[in-house]
Amino acid sequence: MKQMLIGGRWLAARDGRTLPVVSPSDGEAFDEIPRGGAHEVGEAVAAARAALAGPWGRLSATERGRILVKIGEAVLAHEEELAQIEARDTGKPMGTARNDIKVLARYFEFYGTAADKVHGETIPFLAGHQVSLLREPLGVTAHIIPWNYPAQMMGRTIAPALAMGNATVLKPAEDTSLSALRVAEIATAAGLPDGVLNIVTGLGEEAGAALAAHPGIDFISFTGSNEVGTLVQQAAAKNAVKCVLELGGKSPQIVFDDVDMARAVPIIVRAIVQNAGQTCTAGSRLLVQRSAYDRVVGRVAEAFAQVRVGTPAMDLDCGPVMNPAQHRRVQRYIDEARAAGIPVLAEGSIAAGAPPTGFYVKPTFFGPVPRSAALACEEVFGPVLAAMPFEDEADAIALANGTDYGLLAAVWTENAGRLQRVAKAVKAGQVFMNCYGAGGGVELPFGGTKRSGHGREKGLLALEEVSSTKTLVHFHG
Ligand code: NAD
Repeated sequence: MKQMLIGGRWLAARDGRTLPVVSPSDGEAFDEIPRGGAHEVGEAVAAARAALAGPWGRLSATERGRILVKIGEAVLAHEEELAQIEARDTGKPMGTARNDIKVLARYFEFYGTAADKVHGETIPFLAGHQVSLLREPLGVTAHIIPWNYPAQMMGRTIAPALAMGNATVLKPAEDTSLSALRVAEIATAAGLPDGVLNIVTGLGEEAGAALAAHPGIDFISFTGSNEVGTLVQQAAAKNAVKCVLELGGKSPQIVFDDVDMARAVPIIVRAIVQNAGQTCTAGSRLLVQRSAYDRVVGRVAEAFAQVRVGTPAMDLDCGPVMNPAQHRRVQRYIDEARAAGIPVLAEGSIAAGAPPTGFYVKPTFFGPVPRSAALACEEVFGPVLAAMPFEDEADAIALANGTDYGLLAAVWTENAGRLQRVAKAVKAGQVFMNCYGAGGGVELPFGGTKRSGHGREKGLLALEEVSSTKTLVHFHG
């Protein structure tokens, strides 16, 4: 049975309650985590506050950065072990899990080396005055993350907060807490002082809700569903706490008739199939100019039919979805689209030997999907691709912007002017031109517009989210 980390101590829940850890690959429970709640959250917030008053609060930015770089190195030294933990916990292929651990290490390297490059400013003001702008940590930062990329999400949200000198409380998803707990152990061994990173495991509606509502936190970063994001923002509002919300997406791949197909097709398929479609930035809508629709969709269907789903050890294109609820949800979207008569263009296959008790879904490519259909507007969070034709540039932009979401988009055309025009007109936090970046790019500021959320993670902009400015005005005569 695992324990959680609070103030440098590994603890069970005070009332001894636990949650099972279930493998999505075979549906079997193989471990337990503590079911923490309001009490443990209170202890963790207090431990983080105490850490700010201790040695951590007095470290220079260079010293903080060095600790983070060491954590990144230690993560890489444990790459295989962490990848095994992650693959078992999430069901994802081993190759994907190894890549996720490399990205986790990269977050610590990127923000560790950035820690002492955040400079203040001086501001011209009245005669006889000197004005400087300091950038300071916010204090105790809270972080709630989902189950799709647990290790990457931990690095993405925790590393910038630590780089700026905050002390953190992390609530991992109840389905996937194991990598965070092991990384915390590795970080402690690499020199992170006690109480700087606290991890409370437990259910969202218990530990998560208690963390979001805790009056002792100074900031909250939430990545997950729109429904819970709204609850978190409401809780943050009651304490006037700033929050960053990274929510869902329905990202369009906008393909014009002059697309370089050899380049585009494998990337388009991978962008929806990777991580079994459980990627907020999954390219789940394939919008194709009508004049090239049959040609493009035909080629994508050929590639899509080759997609294979299996266990982590099989290391195929993707694994199962996360849990029975997600399995039901994705399967319902597929069944309802079929029942509505939306044509199936291609299906992937589930490898023989994948345990029947696992949560496997057959990747499915539908098209043409009516613009008002659920598959055209709603986030499935599974390996389901919806193709739709458009007429011209204006129609492409209207269709691309026609959902509540605005997280990512891609434009595919050999016409440079059109590439720029469409990329600028699409509402999204990131737009890829003749490429697609689902999941990657530690350096690249990332986040939503519209209902995909607000605030930015990744890149140097993340450091601004987890810090505040103080304006010093000095009259020297
Ligand atoms: P979720 O909202 O159910 O859970 C996310 C986290 O919130 C978990 O840790 C959960 O325990 C916690 N939580 C649940 N209820 C809570 C509550 N009442 N108060 C506080 N915390 C609570 O999301 P999920 O199903 O784990 O993840 C899927 C969703 O996440 C999808 O919509 C996906 O698009 C989104 N997502 C977004 C990004 C992004 O960067 N924009 C990245 C990954 C996933």
